[in-house]
Formats: sequence, C-alpha cells, structure tokens
Amino acid sequence: MAFRLGNLRDGRAVLMDDGLVAAVDGATARWWDLGRLTDGRLADPMDALGDPAALHALTDAAGIPSGGADGWVGLDGLGPAVPRPRKVFGIGMNYLAHIDEMHRAPSTALVIFTKFPSCLVGPADDVVVVGDRTDYEVELVVVVGRRCRHLDESDVWDAVAGVTVGQDISERALQTASEPAQFSLGKSYDTFGPIGPNVVSIDLLEERDDLLLGCSVDGEVRQDSRTSRMIVGVRQLVAYLSSVCTLEPGDLVFTGTPAGVGDAQGRCLRRGQRIQSHIAGVGHMVNDCI
Ligand code: ZN
Repeated sequence: MAFRLGNLRDGRAVLMDDGLVAAVDGATARWWDLGRLTDGRLADPMDALGDPAALHALTDAAGIPSGGADGWVGLDGLGPAVPRPRKVFGIGMNYLAHIDEMHRAPSTALVIFTKFPSCLVGPADDVVVVGDRTDYEVELVVVVGRRCRHLDESDVWDAVAGVTVGQDISERALQTASEPAQFSLGKSYDTFGPIGPNVVSIDLLEERDDLLLGCSVDGEVRQDSRTSRMIVGVRQLVAYLSSVCTLEPGDLVFTGTPAGVGDAQGRCLRRGQRIQSHIAGVGHMVNDCI
C-alpha cells in the first residue's frame, strides 16, 4: 500500500522501514530484499521503479512487507536511490527568496537544465569540492513511475513513483562561465548529485505539496523552507516536461532550491565540511566535502 524503496551498495533493490527518515546520527533501517519477494523480477531498483503497483501490493499502509526483514542498513550502506535514470532534469529559480538572493529577475519561462546521471551518489557519499564556488542546494526530487507523455496536471501524482531528497551540488563559476549561461556541466561533476535515502511513495506523505526541507553545513542551518513555496509546483513542472519529452520510470526532476545557498553569502563549500539535508517525512542525507 505504501513503500520506501532503497538501493543497497551492491545494487540490490530493497524495501525499507522508516529508520532513515529522521535525521538521527547512526540510525539504521530494516530492509527486505525485493529480489527474494518477487522471484528476481524486481531485484534491480530500475525495474522496481517501473512497477510501483507491485511495490504497493507487497506492503502495508506503513510501508512494511509481511515476513521478517533480511537485514539492517545505515545511510552509508546505500547507493543512490535511483542509480541509472535515463534523464535528470533540474529546475532553476523556483523559489522567490532564492531568486532575490541571486539578484535575478523572475523569468517568464521555466529555467530547466540537466544533471548528467553520472553525477549521482548515495545519501552518505562524499562530495568532491572542485573550486572556490562549489555550492549546496537542497531540493525535493520527484521520481517518475511510468512511461508517459502529455500528462494533464491532474494525472501527474499518479505517474510519480515517489519522492526523495536531493542535493543539486553546483560549481557556480562553471555554471555561469558562458553567455548565455549553460548550467548543465557545472552541475554534473562526479559526486554532484547525492540522492536518497529512499524513494518514498506519495501516500506516506501527510501533505505532498507542503513538505519542510532544509540543510545545514557543519551544523549551522543554511536553508529552511517548505515545498509549498515553489513558484511552479510539481504538477505543473512534470506536466510541462512531459509535453516535450516522453518520461520514463526512474527519470528524476530536481524541483529547485529555496534561499540560503552559499554563493549568495560568499560561503560556498570547503573541504572537510559536512552537509546535512532533510525533507520531513522523506529522509535525510549526510555528505562530507572532500
Ligand atoms: Zn538546483
């Protein structure tokens, strides 16, 4: 009826309990091997994302499968919750307070770029700081759950497998080096896409359009907002993207970051710092800068 899908480091798809949702140091979660539960059919996370109905059928309203768990895992035992998406969209300038801090004018058209999938890492993996302006951006990430095109806004949530926490790590110097600016490479260095810990089905969220999200650096709160403050919400974003591209299971949409990024304060990431990111009810991540 509801699920938290994870990707163990060895590539196995697993269902998980809520042990890694709250930001608790050293927390663990129980996991159930999806390969075992489906005779191998959904052993791979990408196959599992293509059949959310099967995941809903295996679990109760709290997201727990029947039968005993196969093991326990902490954040550092997980790879990216979606390991091999075909497409990763990023949305720029989608919170007014972030537009203000970046001294931009609101755009009449959506700002959309790609993060190449090779940048994705797990929820406790290191982020490689590549220059003076490597920056953090906590974001709600939407995970597509079925092949679709020309979605109506009213059908979008039904086409979504779930959501996860993401960091849209960005090298500001490269992101803005050209005129006109092309964001994609500056947001695609290896390790620039921590996501996880789980893909959480929408029915586990109390209010899917109003989630608390935030991040801290070395324990100091830098971003603290709600997804209801997005200028263009999930329904409109995904419907628009589907009017251009066929969306496929596992495709990701980074939905934009709220105010508080480092570049706006002259306080970008430094080696040795720790980024902690969270979305209430979805999960948390801890990524060290190296
Ligand atoms: Zn972003």
